[in-house]
Amino acid sequence: MNTLERRKVLVVEDSRLVHMMYDTILRKCQVVHAHDGLEAMAKLRDHRDVDAILLDMNMPRMNGLEVLELLKADESLKRIPVIIVTTEGNEESAQQAIGKGAAAFLTKPFRAEHIFDALSRALAETPR
Ligand SMILES: [Mg+2]
Repeated sequence: MNTLERRKVLVVEDSRLVHMMYDTILRKCQVVHAHDGLEAMAKLRDHRDVDAILLDMNMPRMNGLEVLELLKADESLKRIPVIIVTTEGNEESAQQAIGKGAAAFLTKPFRAEHIFDALSRALAETPR
């Protein structure tokens, strides 16, 4: 849990309910919220110190894979570990995301421990 304390995590997710769940689960982190890919890119311009990104796959306007491609094509953003969060049965596109540079993927409904584990692992490789 120590690895997560005071880390800044960007959540990209179109469901307001899921955002509330993240707020509860990640109360030791600083959570930055974005509700679609465009808002995510804007938030990253304002928060240059984001340590990790939790990225929903199914979103309007721009899906998770498209957001991932933008992130990995950007020199200043590509080092940030991205954890894909997708629905069950969508593992194929999640595997595709791993091929495009995502650090890990989780399936919904997720448990707090799964989020902690994936974030801790991703952040262990990222210096503060
Ligand atoms: Mg969604």
